[in-house]
Amino acid sequence: MSFIVAIDGPAGAGKGTITKLVGEKLGLVNIDTGATFRCVALNMLQEKIDVKEENRIEEMLNRLHIDMYPNGKIYLNGKDVTKKIREKDVNDFVSPVAVLPIVRNKLLEVQRKIAEGKDVIMEGRDIGTVVFPNADVKIYLDAAAEERARRRVLQNQEKGIKSSYEEVLKGIKDRDKRDSTREIAPLKKAEDAIYVDSTNLSVEEVVEKIIGIIKEKK
Ligand code: C5P
Repeated sequence: MSFIVAIDGPAGAGKGTITKLVGEKLGLVNIDTGATFRCVALNMLQEKIDVKEENRIEEMLNRLHIDMYPNGKIYLNGKDVTKKIREKDVNDFVSPVAVLPIVRNKLLEVQRKIAEGKDVIMEGRDIGTVVFPNADVKIYLDAAAEERARRRVLQNQEKGIKSSYEEVLKGIKDRDKRDSTREIAPLKKAEDAIYVDSTNLSVEEVVEKIIGIIKEKK
């Protein structure tokens, strides 16, 4: 039986960084479900598929192949898209794509399969509510929108991606709104999730806190 840690929360709350570090320290496989939605959005942009073209989306999903490696590299249909899926055109298109039931159903299957038989730490928006409602540990990681935007700008700088604070803040707020008001699997705290606010905490403090929570449950 596998041990599952679910980390949900809005864009820029630190889920990616924290999940990676906690996963490394506790020997859990780290799975970023946002990247799977980003791959679908990128594929649709590349093939010029509109969100209304259900038949074309279905055909594209049937041949979709995503590989995630422990070194963080992500491959879409055999091509390295690690950097491409973080670019602005994908940021702007990913939440309209993530509301589509056909996409969510397919990725739900993909996400459950990736975790099969493994001890995992999985981050997303609906992991504790929909993907693994019986997860062993559920964390809802949050932070103030302004702080999340500040972190995203820094993160982009490190990756060599140019972005302005105002533009990133607006993008984050738009995405939060769409993600939390959509009908299927909206972003929300699971009733039994532990709320962690990282606004005034360092990365190390959040990691320590979450490791403490997981150890208590193990
Ligand atoms: O986590 P990240 O910001 O990379 O996620 C990108 C987008 O994918 C989110 O804004 C959301 O629309 C969608 N997503 C989702 N459910 C998940 C993970 C991500 O709808 N479990």
